[in-house]
Amino acid sequence: MSESAAPPPLEALSAELATLRPRMDAVSLAIHARPELKFAEFHARELLTGWLAQAGFAVRAPAGGVETAFVAVHEGTSPGPRVAVLAEYDALPGIGHGCGHNLIAAGGAAAAIAVVRALPEHPGTVAVIGTPGEEMGGAGKIRLAEAGVFDGVDAAVMFHPGDRSLTARPGLAAAHLRAAFTGVSAHASVSPWEGRSALAGAQLFLHALDAMRQFVPPTVRLHGIVSAGGQAPNVVPADAAVDLYVRDRTAASVEALVERVRAAAEGAALATGTRARVGETGPMYAERRNNLVLAERFGEAVRALGVDIAPGDPDGPAGSSDIGNLSHLLPVIHPYIQIADTGTPGHSVALREAAATPFAHERTQVAAAGLARVVADLLTRPEFLAAARAEFRGASRPVPCRS
Ligand SMILES: [Zn+2]
Ligand SMILES: [Zn+2]
Repeated sequence: MSESAAPPPLEALSAELATLRPRMDAVSLAIHARPELKFAEFHARELLTGWLAQAGFAVRAPAGGVETAFVAVHEGTSPGPRVAVLAEYDALPGIGHGCGHNLIAAGGAAAAIAVVRALPEHPGTVAVIGTPGEEMGGAGKIRLAEAGVFDGVDAAVMFHPGDRSLTARPGLAAAHLRAAFTGVSAHASVSPWEGRSALAGAQLFLHALDAMRQFVPPTVRLHGIVSAGGQAPNVVPADAAVDLYVRDRTAASVEALVERVRAAAEGAALATGTRARVGETGPMYAERRNNLVLAERFGEAVRALGVDIAPGDPDGPAGSSDIGNLSHLLPVIHPYIQIADTGTPGHSVALREAAATPFAHERTQVAAAGLARVVADLLTRPEFLAAARAEFRGASRPVPCRS
């Protein structure tokens, strides 16, 4: 390793981020103002790749066969680790950026640019990987991993905005399902007895899930919507569907629950004279393995910049993300930075509004400094990467595959 590759002090990374701040805010707010759903994030991709190209990154887009994905790399002057910062930029239907992915994207790009500015002679490779389609079971990261985009990547880092700051929050495994019911259409008044209502099948299925709820572990989440329920009150619905997620702490537990959900759908179909078919709308998200060596380094940097950050409760409430699947392939972190009052729900209008405030962008700058700290250390301190790898190997379990 060259002598010029000593890890830069946090102050140097922070100073670079301060100069990047106007562009970071502009990119973030432009993404926020034009929310794009999974795999339609063309505007966000253009904003991010344009900025990264100007900053000297070689941009490849699309990537991994996903139209709105990208890979932007900055090659160093000597061999070394390949470290990726992940950028999510998809929004939610009806809510827009209620998950704050505009901040993840702009902050992630800023973090990577800050590293290569503070460390122009860095060894290895700094990559920003644009991972679209995280929401709605899109599984963008899983698709990219299957396409080989993460091959040779030694570690991947990102942060997520929220209502509290946590270095390592659990993430549940989640199956993304659709229970489709097929009945027989008929006039709803003249001859309803000729029909069989698919909507009745869907209703009974939802009741069955509610009846199941007491008899599943307290960590389970079963939740869904009626995504099709007929088109006119005077037609007995021949088609209905419930889209639902089944979540728990492990993919193995989720798989067992999915079998019970299938049985519930079949029972509801039998009772209503309809047919049920339960299928996946996307790959299962695996439970998250946070790399604590990397997460704690992020936490140290964030604390040094004046933001309180807690370690995170392994039994605390949790969502799910496709980074769970990545976390079984390589060391990753997915810490949270508070951008809204404690108690502000995720996926809400309130969080969407918070994700556009100056405060959220101040916090994103701090989170970007934390990511830059971890990336710079991974590039320049072999013992740090070795410790992260040792933790990863020590906790290794079979990789949950898509079914
Ligand atoms: Zn999110
Ligand atoms: Zn979300």
